[in-house]
Amino acid sequence: MAMQEALRSGPASPPQAPAGPSPEAEDPWVERARRFCATHVGPQLRQWDREDRIPESFFRAFGKEGFLGLTVPREYEGQGLTTSQFVAVMEELATSSGAAATMMAVDLSVAAQPILQWGSEEQRRTYLPRIARGEWVGAFGLTEPSVGSDSQRLTTRYVRDQDGWTIDGSKMFITNAAMAEVVLVFATRDASLGAPGISCLLVRKGTPGFSAAQRLDKLGIRGSETMELLFEHCHVGAGSMLGREGDGFKIAMTALEGGRIGIAACSLGIARAAFEETVRCLPRPAEDWQRSAVARMFVDVEASRALVQKAARLRDQGADFAGAASAAKLFASQAAFRIASRGLEVVGREAFDKDGPCRLEQLFRDSRVLSIVEGTTEIQELILGRRLLGREGARS
Ligand SMILES: Cc1cc2nc3c(=O)[nH]c(=O)nc-3n(C[C@H](O)[C@H](O)[C@H](O)COP(=O)(O)OP(=O)(O)OC[C@H]3O[C@@H](n4cnc5c(N)ncnc54)[C@H](O)[C@@H]3O)c2cc1C
Repeated sequence: MAMQEALRSGPASPPQAPAGPSPEAEDPWVERARRFCATHVGPQLRQWDREDRIPESFFRAFGKEGFLGLTVPREYEGQGLTTSQFVAVMEELATSSGAAATMMAVDLSVAAQPILQWGSEEQRRTYLPRIARGEWVGAFGLTEPSVGSDSQRLTTRYVRDQDGWTIDGSKMFITNAAMAEVVLVFATRDASLGAPGISCLLVRKGTPGFSAAQRLDKLGIRGSETMELLFEHCHVGAGSMLGREGDGFKIAMTALEGGRIGIAACSLGIARAAFEETVRCLPRPAEDWQRSAVARMFVDVEASRALVQKAARLRDQGADFAGAASAAKLFASQAAFRIASRGLEVVGREAFDKDGPCRLEQLFRDSRVLSIVEGTTEIQELILGRRLLGREGARS
C-alpha cells in the first residue's frame, strides 16, 4: 500500500539520472576521467564518428594523463589500480566514448595484462612502461578471416628458424591495429594439433613482412580502428615468444576472461549513457508507458553494475572470476543494446537524427558490437552453462 501511495504521489522531480555513477565514483580517477572527457571527447565525438577516426593526439593526451597505465603495476610505471577501480573509470569513459573505451580496454586488458602475466622480466620491462606512458599501444591478434569463436582452429602458421620464428598468415578485425607498436599474434606450428599447437608471438610495428591491410568501415564504435593484419615471411627474434611454446591458447583464453570484465564495464557505461540520454531527451510531460520503460532501463543499469563489480571484486580477491566475468559481459552488453534500442522508441523521431541534440542513435550503434567482441553472447552462455552443469556430453 505504501509503495502504491509512493508511486501515485511521487515527486515531479527534475529529470536526472537516478542510476547515477557507481559507488567508486569517489575515486579521484573517475573524476579525472569525467573532466578529461568533457574537454577532449565531448566536443569531438560527432566528428570521430563521422570520419571513423580518433586522432593519435587524443591517445597521446590520454596517455600523458596516466589513463593508459591504469592497471599496469607501479613498478612498471603504471597507476596500479585494482580491477574494481578500473571498471569504475571504464564506465565513466564509456559514457563519453564507447570507441575510446574499447581501444583502452584492448590496450590494457588483452595486450598489457598478458605481457604482465606471461612475459619474461625483459619483456615486461620493454613493453609495460612504454604502454603505461601511452608511448606504445598494444593489440591482440586472435581472430582470422575464417576463424572467430572457434579459435583453436586458427591457421596462421609459425616455424622455428635459426634465431627465432617466422610467421605466415593473416588476422582480421584487429582493434588498435594501425596504431599498435606491439601485437600479440596467436599462431600455430601445426593446425592439426589444435590448442596445444598454438603459441603467442610479440610482433613489433615495422617488422619486415608485417603490414596492416584493409581498414574496416564499421557500424559502431567508429573511430576505434579495426583492420586486417598480414604476415608474409615475417621473422621475429627468439625473445618474441610470450610464455612457452604451446602456451598460446591458454594465454588467449586467460586474457579474454579478464578482458570481458573491461568490455562489461564498457557496456555498462554505454547502458548508463543511453539511459541518461533517454531521460534527458524524452518529450515532456512523460506518459506512463515512458515511465515504465525508463524504470526498466534503470534496473538494467543497476543490475549490470552489480554484475560488473562482482566480477571485478572476485578478480581483486584472487578468486575464480571467469564465470562472473562471462555473466557480467553477457548481461551488460545485452542491457546496453536493450536500453539504447528502447530509448530510440521512448524519445521518438528526434533520436534518429545524426545531427540532432540526442546521442541515442550513436549509442544504439555502439552498443551492438559489445555482445560480439571478446566472445559472443552465445559463447558466454556456453562458458557459463558448462560451469553450471558440467562438461559431460559437451561437443568440444
Ligand atoms: C569491432 C570489432 C572489434 C574486434 N576486435 C578484435 C581484436 O582486437 N582482436 C581479435 O582477435 N578479434 C577481434 N574481433 C573479433 C571478435 O572477437 C569476433 O568477431 C568474435 O570472436 C566472433 O567471431 P566471428 O565474428 O567470427 O563469429 P563466429 O564465431 O563465426 O560466430 C557467428 C555466430 O555463431 C555463433 N556461434 C559460434 N560458435 C557457436 C557455438 N559453438 N555455439 C553457439 N553459437 C555459436 C556466434 O555466437 C555468432 O552469433 C573484433 C570484432 C569486432 C566486430
